[in-house]
Amino acid sequence: MKKSLFALMLLALGLLVAKTFAEEKQVMQTKDQAPPQPAAKVEKTEAEWKASLTPEQYRVLRTAGTEPANSATYKQFKEQKGGTYYCAGCGTELFSSDHKFDSHCGWPSFFDASNNKNVTLKQDVSLGMVRTEVLCANCNGHLGHLFQGEGFNTPKDQRYCINGVTLVFVPAGEKKPETKPEEKKTDGK
Ligand SMILES: [Zn+2]
Repeated sequence: MKKSLFALMLLALGLLVAKTFAEEKQVMQTKDQAPPQPAAKVEKTEAEWKASLTPEQYRVLRTAGTEPANSATYKQFKEQKGGTYYCAGCGTELFSSDHKFDSHCGWPSFFDASNNKNVTLKQDVSLGMVRTEVLCANCNGHLGHLFQGEGFNTPKDQRYCINGVTLVFVPAGEKKPETKPEEKKTDGK
């Protein structure tokens, strides 16, 4: 009797450790430099994607998975200051902190994409709902869904509901330096 109780406690402890460990790995990556922008569409085999992504990134990006609501990435997202969000699959610039807002939905939310050319919208009829799927235009990775007309007090009445694990955050000021504007010469005309 006692033995089985002890075994049960050990099992519970093991599960707790495993869960904590798994959650720790399910974070949004942060980099201090903007990744290079892909010059062409990014195509990889399943094996190559598995090798280049974390298991959770692979599950969400490549198998249209959804991270749990209010996950570690959502907490990170809420704490992040200004910066830019890039695709964890291929580095394409996707979102800007200028467009982020607190929708209280449990997933990172933006009212616009930083460049509409970089996201593909596709009708998704899975789970008995008609939704708009948001994909990275360069690697076709699943990012989340787009909802419109929900009445949020944002400049655009739409909500890009994005899985944080599909993003790489580069804080503002740590981006690669932008090309300096030509200094105006004041001597002579
Ligand atoms: Zn991508």
